[in-house]
Order: sequence, then C-alpha cells, then structure tokens
Amino acid sequence: MAERSYDFLMPSVNFFGPGVINKIGERAKMLGMKKPVIVTDKFLEGMKDGAVEQTLKSLDAAGVDYVIYNNVEPNPKIRNIKEVKKLYEESGADSIITVGGGSAHDTGKGAGIILTNGDDITKLAGIETLDKALPPLIAVNTTAGTGSELTRHAVITNEETHLKFVVVSWRNIPLVSFNDPTLMLDVPKGLTAATGMDAFVQSIEPYVSVDHNPITDSQCIEAIKLIETSLREAVANGHNLEARTKMVEAEMLAGMAFNNANLGYVHAMAHQLGGQYDAPHGVCCALLLPYVEEYNIIACPERFAELAKIMGENTDGLSTRDAAELSIKAMKQMSEDVGIPKSIKEIGAKPEDFELMAENALKDGNAFSNPRKGTKEDIVKIFQAAYDAK
Ligand code: NAD
Repeated sequence: MAERSYDFLMPSVNFFGPGVINKIGERAKMLGMKKPVIVTDKFLEGMKDGAVEQTLKSLDAAGVDYVIYNNVEPNPKIRNIKEVKKLYEESGADSIITVGGGSAHDTGKGAGIILTNGDDITKLAGIETLDKALPPLIAVNTTAGTGSELTRHAVITNEETHLKFVVVSWRNIPLVSFNDPTLMLDVPKGLTAATGMDAFVQSIEPYVSVDHNPITDSQCIEAIKLIETSLREAVANGHNLEARTKMVEAEMLAGMAFNNANLGYVHAMAHQLGGQYDAPHGVCCALLLPYVEEYNIIACPERFAELAKIMGENTDGLSTRDAAELSIKAMKQMSEDVGIPKSIKEIGAKPEDFELMAENALKDGNAFSNPRKGTKEDIVKIFQAAYDAK
C-alpha cells in the first residue's frame, strides 16, 4: 500500500437528532458567549416555531443576550459579510451563531474572517490563508445540505465581478454544529431536491478525488447509500422524518468527506454558474454532475464502476468501462426523479460566457483535486454538453 499522511478535520462538537436545538442556549453559555450575532434571513426569522424562533427561545432560557442580522442572501455577497461585521462591532457582540443553510453559515464565516484577518476577503481566497482565529462560531443547520456547518470552506460571491470564490481554512470550522431534522420538515420540494443533490455531489466528488483516503471513502459510500434510500422520499413527502433524518446523516458524512478529500470540477464549475447567474448552488451542481463525471471516467474507471454498485446498479458480468457508465446513468436518474431541470440553459447560462467561466473554474480552489487534469477547452466542452442536454 502506498505511504500516505493527512490531517483530518472535523468540528469538535456536533449535536444531531430531533429536538437537539433546545440545547443551544446552554452550549452558547458553556462557550462563554455573552452576545452573539444571529446570522440568518428574514424568511427563517419569520417562520413560526422555526429554527430562529427555537434558537432564540433556548438562548433566552439560558440568559444569553443576542442581536440579529436577518439579511443573508443566497450565494452570499461581500456586502452581506461587511454588514454583519458592522453590526458586530456597533452592537458590542462577542460571537456568531448562524441559522440557516450554506448561505447563512458562509456569511457568518465570511464576517468572522474579515473581523480578524483584514477587510479585503478577496485577498484571502485560496487554501489556508488565515493567520488569526475567527470569533467563536456555532452553526445551526436547516438544509441537507451543503455541509457548511462542519466544513473549513467559506464560499462568497464578489457582487462586482460576479466571481464566486472560496476561502478554505481550518480556522473556518465552527466550534459546534447543530443538525436537528425537525427543523427541515417544511423545506419545500424544490429546495429539498437542490440541497439533496448538493449532498449527493459532495459524496461523489471526494470519492473520485485525488485526495481520497479510506476514511473519506467510507463516509462517501455511506452517504451515497443513505441518499439513494432517502432523497426521493424526502422530496415526495417532506414530513417523512425518517427520510429527513437520513438526509441529515448523509449531508454530514459528505461534509466530513469533502472537508478532507476535497471536491472537483463539478464544484469549480458550479461556482461559475452561481456567481454569473445567481442560480441555486445545488441545482448548478446537479446539472453539471453527469457531464463532469463522464469526462472523469478515464482517470479512474474502477472507482466509477464501484460507484455504480454503491448506487444499486447491477454490474455483474460487465466490463469496468460499462459498469462505470452505469454510474453516470444512475446520477442522471437521481436528478430526473427529484425534478432537477435538464440543461444549464434553464438557469440562464449563455455559451458566450463559457470561455471566461472555464478559465475561472480552473483557478477555483476545488479544481485541484479533480481526478482528470483538464484544459480550458475541456471545461468549455463540458459546459457545452451540460447546455445541450435534453
Ligand atoms: P441557502 O442557504 O442559500 O438557502 C436557500 C433558501 O432556503 C433561503 O431562501 C432560505 O431562507 C431557505 N431555507 C433554508 N432553510 C430552510 C428551512 N428549514 N425551511 C424552509 N426554507 C429554508 O441554501 P443552501 O443550498 O443550504 O446553501 C447554498 C450556499 O452554500 C451556496 O452559496 C453554496 O456555494 C454554499 N456552499 C457552501 C459549502 C461550504 O462548505 N461552505 C458547501 C457547499 C455549498
């Protein structure tokens, strides 16, 4: 066996299961939080008995004061993190609690980054660029999901250049995460599908990544199995608590896997679609997945043949290549079953943008772990295939 060494990153404490949200007040107190900024959006803030209301109730019971920032936008922008920083400083806050999906967590992380590491976050894009610790951060997760409540990634969009970039650092990992599936029962069908497909992609990309290892492999395999047996059910009936619970377990496993084995061209290219057209991240990932992985097959056909089996395809008697192709078929089937559109046309993609987006995708922090090393022309062709899809 080849010699290998790696550092393995996970948050220190993760609360999981129905009702765990009640414990947030006590945990905030244990961390010495006196006045956190709650980072969320207006929709979640207004939800009756939703994640924000329950978080505040628990903080009130524990006697922890707070101030609320309720202006998180999907594909969070630099303006959002600056607004949180301003509120943090003006209100005398000492910590951050994010309540929402990936956008809330990344807004909180982004604000934490500029509070301690300097104002210009664009200069900090890349891997392990942060010198100083962020303020204490708790993440309450409400989608299943991006895994951001567990990861070292902060994904921010520069609203002036439309470039979505990633700051990857162990310092971004929240101290504590909360995953309570009862907070996800009312996630609408389309959002369940989009965020579930993000978790699906995040269990496939680390499995074929050049940085995969036995620990991340086992996380990816279990995550894919859980998604295969629960995403369709969660989309069909959002109030199916068993399906929601399995999807949370899957997104956590996928988050841990890509925190350590990294991602690939699907995410590198999805960030271009998200930055350029402000499209939902999970949909961007799902639309690109089969075309990127078809391109990747020649780099590691055995891994794709294994993926087909993990996804429940019958590969008996097939050549490795034919078995690998079945994994692509299974990816397309999952997208179709949960109602993802077919082509990137449907999120507003335009072929005249492909060259620039391809150039930027190759510079994205997720591109380096892709199993096949591509050129700009290769990436343009993949965008085109995802555009021509019917
Ligand atoms: P999101 O956070 O953008 O939320 C989308 C919408 O869903 C919002 O309008 C929100 O109000 C609503 N919503 C959230 N929870 C809900 C609930 N429980 N019930 C009803 N509505 C709810 O969606 P997301 O997919 O979780 O996050 C996407 C962002 O995360 C993208 O910017 C993406 O790039 C980023 N991301 C980050 C990481 C990371 O590790 N940091 C990983 C993957 C993706």
